[in-house]
Amino acid sequence: MKRTGLSLILFLACSAVAFGQFSQAPLPYKYSALEPYIDSTTMYIHYNGHHAAYCTNLNKALEKYPELYKKSVVELIQGLNELPADIQTAVRNQGGGFYNHSLFWTLMAPTGTTNMTPKLEKILSENFGSVDAFKIEFEKAAASRFGSGWAWLIKEPSGKLRIMSTANQDSPLLPMAEVKGKPVLTLDVWEHAYYLKYQSKRAAYIKAFWNVVNWTEVEKLIAS
Ligand code: MN
Repeated sequence: MKRTGLSLILFLACSAVAFGQFSQAPLPYKYSALEPYIDSTTMYIHYNGHHAAYCTNLNKALEKYPELYKKSVVELIQGLNELPADIQTAVRNQGGGFYNHSLFWTLMAPTGTTNMTPKLEKILSENFGSVDAFKIEFEKAAASRFGSGWAWLIKEPSGKLRIMSTANQDSPLLPMAEVKGKPVLTLDVWEHAYYLKYQSKRAAYIKAFWNVVNWTEVEKLIAS
């Protein structure tokens, strides 16, 4: 009896590893938490529609190569060139979408709950001249990304902070990224991220983002 139980546990454990597909982490706050800057409806559709679809499609793309479910999505993206050729585009787009949104949710926090510490202000000032100069440069990257994409603050291997943007669901983790580094802040500038509330006014959405940035998490990522 005992042995049967143990075998069952081992079987289940192995199955979980072999078929451990990717899943969305729960949103770390309510859909309404970022109001009035990012509206509940947008958050609901963005998480349950767009992000969920990237997750489903990434899992589908890996069906032929189930051993790849054991890797993290960061490993898949960083190692894109070593993946089977027939799934590279899907992992770049769907895996990229899955990763970017997973990160994006954690870099926002309920309205009025986080502030920049003097330590983070100092780091940003050292890298960009001042906090305002940092914000202006980030806003410019987000506003000038033509079509769909993301704005990023990254930490380069040297430790220097840098602002950049990418098209589609690309990120600074990709082997073909023009500038590579560890993302420490990102903003989704696809129209689906802001159109319900801001319509064509992307610049207003970008400005509003500053009210819901999770500076605690940004500082943690810079330090790690
Ligand atoms: Mn999005």
